[in-house]
Amino acid sequence: MGFPVSYYCPHCGAVVELERDGYLADKSVTPYPLEGWAYADPADEFEDADGVHFVCGESEASRVSWTELVSDADDVENPGLDSPCGRDFYLSFVKFENGREVESVPETDYVVIGGQGPASPRGPNPGPRGPGGF
Ligand SMILES: [Zn+2]
Repeated sequence: MGFPVSYYCPHCGAVVELERDGYLADKSVTPYPLEGWAYADPADEFEDADGVHFVCGESEASRVSWTELVSDADDVENPGLDSPCGRDFYLSFVKFENGREVESVPETDYVVIGGQGPASPRGPNPGPRGPGGF
C-alpha cells in the first residue's frame, strides 16, 4: 500500500504529505507544469498520471495532509510569503518511454540535440548584397 512522502511548496515552503505508491519515482517539484506531463488532482488516481497538481494549502484528499511545517530550503522562492500561499505547484514523476527516462525541456534552456535532421550545406548564395549594384 501507499506510504506518506513529504514535499514542500516551491513558492512558500509549506510542507505537505502525500500518501502514494512506492513504485513511483519522483522527478521534481516545480512551480509550473513540465512540458509533456499530464497532472492529476491528488484526489484522483494520480498513479496513472505523470504527476500531481497541488494548490498550496487547499488541495483536499484523504491522501493529502498539509502539515504546519514550512521548509527553509534554499530553493523556496518566497520564504517570507504567507504559508500556505494558495498557489499552484506540480509534483512530477519520472517518466519512461521505451525503457529510457524522459527528460523535461526547461523553458529557458532549450537544448537542440545534434545529429537530428539533414545538415544544410551552405552553397553559393546570391544574396541581395552582391557586388556591382550600381
Ligand atoms: Zn505555498
